[in-house]
Amino acid sequence: MDKIKIEKLTVFGKHGVYPEENVLGQKFQVSLVMYTDTRKAGMTDDLECSINYGDVSQYVKQYFDENTFKLIEKVAEKLAENLLLRYPLLEKVDVKIEKPWAPITIPVESVGVEISRGWHTAYVALGSNIGDEKAYLDEAVEKLKNHPLCQVRKVADYIQTEPYGGVEQDPFLNSALELRTLLFPEELLALLNQIEAEAGRERIIHWGPRTLDLDILLYDDCVIDTPSLTIPHIDMQNRDFVLIPMVQLAPYYRHPVLGYTMRQLLERLQEKNPA
Ligand code: ATP
Ligand code: CA
Ligand code: CA
Repeated sequence: MDKIKIEKLTVFGKHGVYPEENVLGQKFQVSLVMYTDTRKAGMTDDLECSINYGDVSQYVKQYFDENTFKLIEKVAEKLAENLLLRYPLLEKVDVKIEKPWAPITIPVESVGVEISRGWHTAYVALGSNIGDEKAYLDEAVEKLKNHPLCQVRKVADYIQTEPYGGVEQDPFLNSALELRTLLFPEELLALLNQIEAEAGRERIIHWGPRTLDLDILLYDDCVIDTPSLTIPHIDMQNRDFVLIPMVQLAPYYRHPVLGYTMRQLLERLQEKNPA
């Protein structure tokens, strides 16, 4: 992706672990690599189509004036987040913070941290089969919409489906949504678990009835396999109640492990299990 760069913007700040740093303050050098598509600005010569580096620089100065943190890790983290939320065209940012006057007793040119943060696209499956199923799904969508680090891009139609996994129970209402998020996968899972818990979700029988089930189907093209998290969702290719909403949201999205698009996965499943 195209980049807009600001190198070694020099600002004054009072971040630091030592009390004298918080009182006296010191010099910080901020370097940013902002990833954005500059094609439109390049074709039109219109600043509105790009990110104004003058405005960004002023914002960084203001951020340093207004905040005091102990760690430059935190300074970088919060600055990256604020920039990503403030500039809609910014997809990803590398933030480097250096302290040329770091209070250590050995000669040093500078110390610093450099981080990369950006927006991610995640697909989340929604399901409910107890009580007012539609209200549970609506509430989950609303909570994700209201989360500061999530943007709900699209929500698939709610569909009624037969239970899966052999447990005798009521039909389900299912859907899926496309999310743009600054949360890391484990953080997104924790948020989804919290929203499930607020809906009174109890884990009694696996694949049993539930007020609300929220699963991460895909997160960018990430492949993750840890004890608490498997992405892509391990069984999505075998579930029409997942693939039908996914085809509506992103028919050409390719499963990063299986190599098939969502539409192809649904076709293959329907060939295997003709209605
Ligand atoms: P299934 O995962 O087969 O749809 P389920 O949704 O009924 O079954 P849960 O009881 O909701 O299963 O979740 C069991 C555990 O699955 C969770 O505690 C979570 O840590 C783990 N898990 C692993 N990968 C994912 C994922 N992609 N999305 C949500 N949970 C996941
Ligand atoms: Ca599930
Ligand atoms: Ca689940």
